[in-house]
Formats: sequence, structure tokens, C-alpha cells
Amino acid sequence: MYFLEQTRTRFYKDPFKFLKSLFTKEKSGALKTTKKDLEEHLRTTNFDSKRHEHLAIPSDIPPIEPPEHHIETSPPTWKEVENTVRRARTASAPGPNGVPYKVYKNAPDVLRFLWRLMRTAWKNKIIPKVWRRAGGVLIPKEKDAVNISQFRPISLLNVEGKIFFRVIAQRMAEYLQRNAYVDTSVQKAGISGFSGCLEHSSMIWHQIQMAKVEKRDLHVVFLDLANAFGSVPHELLWSAFRFFHIPDTITTLVKSYFQDLQFCFTTSEFTTSWQCLNVGIMAGCTISPLAFIMAMEVIIRSSKWVAGGQRVDSGFRLPPLRAYMDDITTLTTTVPCTRRLLRKLEENISWARMKIKPSKSRSISIVKGVLSDLKFFIGDDQIPTVSEQPVKSLGRWYDASLKDKDQVQQLRKDISSSLQSIDNTQLPGKLKAWCLQFGLLPRVLWPLAVYEVPISTVEKMERGVTGYLKKWLGVPRCLTTIGLYGDGVLKLPLTSLTEEFKCSKTRLQMTLNESRDPVVSNNAPTLATGRKWRPGKAVQEATAALRHADIVGHVQQGRGGLGLTSRAAWSKATAPERRKMVVQEVRHQEEAARWAKAVSLSKQGQWTRWDSVEKRKISWKDLWAMEARRLSFSIRATYDVLPTPVNLHQWYGEDPDCALCSMPANLRHILTGCKTSLTQGRYTWRHNQVLKNLASALEDKRAATNSLPPPAASHPLRTNFVREGAKPPKRGSTPLERDQLRLARDWKMLADIGRQLVFPPEIATTTLRPDMVLWSRSLKKVFIIELTVPWEDSVDEAYERKHLRYADLAAEARHHGWNTEVRPVEVGCRGFVATSTTRLLRDLGIKGQSQRSAIKAVSEAAEGSSQWLWMKRKDPSWAPK
Ligand SMILES: [Zn+2]
Repeated sequence: MYFLEQTRTRFYKDPFKFLKSLFTKEKSGALKTTKKDLEEHLRTTNFDSKRHEHLAIPSDIPPIEPPEHHIETSPPTWKEVENTVRRARTASAPGPNGVPYKVYKNAPDVLRFLWRLMRTAWKNKIIPKVWRRAGGVLIPKEKDAVNISQFRPISLLNVEGKIFFRVIAQRMAEYLQRNAYVDTSVQKAGISGFSGCLEHSSMIWHQIQMAKVEKRDLHVVFLDLANAFGSVPHELLWSAFRFFHIPDTITTLVKSYFQDLQFCFTTSEFTTSWQCLNVGIMAGCTISPLAFIMAMEVIIRSSKWVAGGQRVDSGFRLPPLRAYMDDITTLTTTVPCTRRLLRKLEENISWARMKIKPSKSRSISIVKGVLSDLKFFIGDDQIPTVSEQPVKSLGRWYDASLKDKDQVQQLRKDISSSLQSIDNTQLPGKLKAWCLQFGLLPRVLWPLAVYEVPISTVEKMERGVTGYLKKWLGVPRCLTTIGLYGDGVLKLPLTSLTEEFKCSKTRLQMTLNESRDPVVSNNAPTLATGRKWRPGKAVQEATAALRHADIVGHVQQGRGGLGLTSRAAWSKATAPERRKMVVQEVRHQEEAARWAKAVSLSKQGQWTRWDSVEKRKISWKDLWAMEARRLSFSIRATYDVLPTPVNLHQWYGEDPDCALCSMPANLRHILTGCKTSLTQGRYTWRHNQVLKNLASALEDKRAATNSLPPPAASHPLRTNFVREGAKPPKRGSTPLERDQLRLARDWKMLADIGRQLVFPPEIATTTLRPDMVLWSRSLKKVFIIELTVPWEDSVDEAYERKHLRYADLAAEARHHGWNTEVRPVEVGCRGFVATSTTRLLRDLGIKGQSQRSAIKAVSEAAEGSSQWLWMKRKDPSWAPK
């Protein structure tokens, strides 16, 4: 019990931290060093004896064309600054001055002031000192870390400088891109519009697979640069700036920033003195990554010309080099080509005063489709082959099998052990489900996207997940997965692993097909996912459907409200929009398939025939607040899988009869059809519970309306007095004729609760007792409201029956000159509110939040009472709760 409380407390205190501790290895420890030693260490690692030695660009580098598009050199514009701030992550930690982005996001006046400062800084070419100072902390990389090598430094610069340099970085990136200065088929990082890492790893993997299938030669070397970010000399950056014709105005600004960039670290015991960054780039800085990419581009440009890449069927030549930040990969078809390329790269990297680490690099040699143990060298040091040691590059593992089988196996193991560890926590089931949704699922999406996972395996994984989910939510194993993942009548906030897998593969396929890099888009590999479902085909079909929809408009599939009511035209959509639309279409198709399956299920698919009820959507917020037993009852009642005598008879051959009346008892019988329950007043009790809630919502509205100032006489085309400068109220947004209560201030209401309702004799004389009467003498308007709490299948029937019952009364009232509306309303016994109910609320002007809470109240009253009836199903005596 104590542990249970402790776990829950830990969870509620910080759920995301709890997740982290559940899925990642513990990282802890404190740096064991003195201030003096740490300062000494920082001084030596950031020291560059050749700091001021100029680096002349290698003379054999192919020249570049002068820029066709020029870079803007005037001070930052308001729009640039505003956009940068809007796009910045609110959550990013502030720098030493403690000012977060939030200040500038929420206070445009303050931002405007900063913008003026930036313009001054730009014009005077002076970077304020506070923009060049970073505070840092050391985060342990492993458990019980003590050594400096076991810590990762994090530097935090002040956001003002970050905004300023982000504007410069954006201008430069656009300039490099428009002039095609960065070869995007080689270097993908940091160039907008490229999800470089996935594109690269997909292309490299595909090239390896094709070499195997087509029995060709291919030599791949993954190079590891030793401490690349920390060792790039600043002089190399300036050489790169010159090489790409970056104007002096900009170079001077960036240089004066780098000249005096300083940082310090704070540990639990001390803060170091300021340290100069003499070499390498600053983590967390907004201009550094782009400067680094330009430096790498110079190294690559001066190396890649010595070898050609593989020629593919379409006539294209694939580039012999691929780079992503500090990851460099060579791919050639002959050994001499790779040797030449490695030699040249080594030469240029040491010219740049950086180093390759052969022991951490790796090679794959395929000869006639078979992995060989051919070896490559950097100087005298051999690069290990992938058979000697597997390697992880750009987020995917390569091993001697050159297949993903082991990775997929590992993924399956990881998923089942994670499920196990969620299950082992002492949390209540719904919170375990939350851990699955927010902890496990996001962690498996990346491996599912990069590796060749067959759809059948994903389905197996999903079955494992579903099994646990059912256990945690307290629903029987026989419940269809549509009940868990579908967007049907009761929508739970859970996602299907298979659906997420399909979406992520589709997204990747679209990224490759529509890549802005022609080398990728013209040679886009088809992603392998087994025979049952293929992303290539899914993209084709979705694209065709979307094109078709452009012509004929979207056709609704099924009643499930698959809801593509309004959408942008395919033909006018941008590439990212198209990617979204195709993924959305794949989701629709999944939902349509689920719908079709549900229709065919006679019992668990009954809800597909509920024509006039509102869908219920349970959010995580609802779920957190919900009692576990209620949630389980909701789901089991909706899909009729509660252990009713009839179900138990079907499952285990038990006695199918009702404990009260000896008729066969299915859920419908227990909740709405049992004669004994009816005579005992069980159903009336439930009806009154719901009625109380409905009446209270109506009474609130009635009282509020009566206390409004008198309505203008010239309704409904009355002219509103509009203050000068104020906008006139929009007509049509709140149609006056709909909000019928507003027309009078003398509304009266009677409800058949507590004491018997006597129908107002001024309207008509009758012995009938409707549930509620709402009337206005001045308008001569009356609403006769009658509530039913039926079995959901019978909502329409109840409506007709009640309408008929009050037909004579309505005729008499009309005869007396009353504008009469008979409004039967239903709330299904399992909490599904009929559209007649929402319509009534809307017509009486109960809208928005007050409508939502009224619906929630009546829905919960119906469901809660039914749950009580369910619990009392075997109890021959009846007492209301
Ligand atoms: Zn019965």
C-alpha cells in the first residue's frame, strides 16, 4: 500500500518525468573535480595555438559561380524579428539574464524596443557583450557519472542575441539555397525543406539493398570525425564565408561575435570563471550550425570531385558522398574510387586542422552482391568492417546481415519489455494507458519509420499492446479493437500502432517522392513493409482519391463522420500540405475499413445503427478524472460485452434468465425492458435523475433571459446602436429566430419533479403530465418537453411515440391561440445524447460551453444511473442510490 501511494505521488508530481524514469536508463552523478581543474580542462580543450593562422582554400577546389541572388545586408526588419520570435520554442531555457522567449512573444512593445537595439547594433557593427556570454551546466550522460567525459555540456545564450543571429542565419540559408551553393543531395542538414536525416538514411539503405539484389559492387564507408563541433577552427569558418561570397557586412558581424564568445559552467559547488571559445562552435547558438555546414561543404567540395558515384538506370549519378552535419558517408562502386576519395578527404580534413577517428569509422564492402571483408585505411589505421563491429549511423543500425531482421526483433523485445514495466508500476489502469500513449508509442515511431518492418509484425506488436490496454481499462478480451482505436460513437484518446505505422511510412514515402532534391525524388526507393500493405501503393491511391475529390468534391464515406467537409484543393497545395493531406487520407481509409468491419458485427457493431445520437469523445482530461469502474462500464455497455446472463450463457453456458423476472436477460432487458424493474420504479428513478439535470440547465437559461433588459420592440430587424469605431454585431452568427427565448421576459417553467405537474390551464386543460412546460404569456408561445431515456437503438421510436402522445394537447393549445411546440427529447440509457436534445438546447439559446456542460451532465446522469441499475440487477429489492 505504501509503495502504491508513493508511485502515484511520484506520477502526479510530474508524469513526464515519471515516464522518463520508466523508459530510459538512469542518469545521475556529480562532477568530482575542483574549480581549478575544471577551468584548466576548459582552457586546454578550447585552446587553438593556430587560432590566427589563415586557412587558404585548397587550390584544386572546383570554382563556384558568382551569386545570382544577393543577400540582404540592411538591418533586420520588424517582420523578420517578429517571425523569428513567433517560431521560437517557448519551452527553451533562457540564458544568463533569465529572460525567456515568452517575454518577447507576449509583449510586442518590448520586442519593438529590442528590434531598435538590433538595428543600432547592426549599423554600428557592435555585438553587445551580453549576446556573447553563455551560462552552462553539465548533464550526466550515464549513471553515477564522476568524470568530465561522462558529462554533456549545455550552454545557454541570452535569447536577444539568439534572435539577432537567427535572422542572419535565415538570410544566409536562403541565399545559399537560392544560389544552389549547398549541394542538397550531399549535405542536407539545416537546409529548409529537407528532412535530411531520414532522406539520407533511406537512400543509403536502399542503395545497399539494391547492390545485394542486383549482385553489384558497392563500397560504403561511414566516417567519424573526432569532436567535429568542438574542433572546427574559426579561420575555416571565415574561409568558407569568403568562398561563398558572403558580404563583408555580415561576415564582420558574425566575426565580432565569435571573437569574444565566452562561457562558464555552474556545478552544484561552484561557477567557473569566463572561458574564451577559441575553437569550435557553440552549442545552442543560432548561427553556429549554418557556419559549420558551410565549412563542411568546403571540405566536401574540395574532395568529392576525385570520384564518381554509382550510375543508376535513370541515367542519374548518385553522389559519392553524403553528409549530415558531421556525419560523412562515402558510396562508390569500385575500391580504387573509395581509396582515392578517402585519401582526398583525409588530406582536406587535416588541412582543416580536424581529424578522422578510424576506430569509430566503419566500412561495408559488397562485391557481386555479397558482403566481403575488404578493408580500407585512414593512413596506417584500418577502418573496422561492419562484420567486425555493427555501426549506428543517422539513426539506424547496420550489421553484417545487411538486413533489419535483428533490429525488428529487438524492437519487438523492447516493446514487450516496456509494456511489462508499465504493467509493473502500481498505477491505476487508465494511467498505465496514458504511459503507453505518451511514453511508449512516441519512442517506437522512429524505429518503425526507419527500419523495414513488415506490416504483419506491426500487427503482432499491436496485438500485444491491445492485450495490455484491455487489461488496464478493465474490458474483456473479446472486445473488438474498433472499440479502442476507432473514431466511432465512443471515441477514446488512444491510437492504433498499425495506423501510426502506416501514417509514418506514408509520410516518409511522400517525403522521398516529393523531395526538393532531384537525386532523391527521381530515385525515390519504394519502402518495404511486406506484402499486405505497401506505402507506395497507399500514396498512389490516396493521391488519386484527392485528385478525384478536386473534380467531384469529397464524397462522405459511411456515416462515421469521416469529416473531410472542407479542405484545400490538392492541385493548389504545397508539398508539406500534400504530405499532410495524403497522411490524412490514409487515416480516413483506416477509419472506413474499421467502419465497414463494425457494420458486419451483429452485437459489437450495434452502434453503427444508432442514427440520431451524438458521438461521445473521451479526452485524456476526462479519462484522468473518471472513476475506473465507470470507464470500464462505459466501454462494455456501449459494445454490449458486460457479463449479462445472456452473454454469460453464450460464453460459459450459464443460466440466461433475469434474476428479477425470469425472462432471458440481455443488457437491453436489464437497462430498459424488465417488467419487474419497471413496476419497482427503477426506470422512473433514472428518468428523474436525467430530468433534474436537464431542467436545471433550462431553468438557468430561463432565469437569465427574464432578467435581461426588455427586448427592443422592432424585433427582429431592430437596428443596434453601434458605438463609433466599434464593429456592428454580425447578423447570422447568432440567428435571432433560433434563440427563441430572447424574444420575451416573462418565461415560466414547470417541471414534473418532486410534486406532480399540473398543466397550466391558461393554455389547455388536460390530465397529461409532460416532463416540462416552458411558456411565455406575452408571446403566446409554449414548449411542451418530454424526456425519454431509451435503449440507444430505440431513440427514433421514442421520439415518434412521444410526439404522437401530445398531438391532441398541442392541437388544443393551438386552438387557444398558443404557438405550440412539442419537443420530445431523448438521452440514451448508456449516456448517448440524442440529437433532439442538442437541438432543443440550441433552439433555446443554450450554446457553446453551457451546452457542452448541460450535455455532459445529462449524459453522466443517464449512464451513472444505468450503472447503478446494472449493479442492482440481481437484487430483488430496490432502493434508489
Ligand atoms: Zn427482468
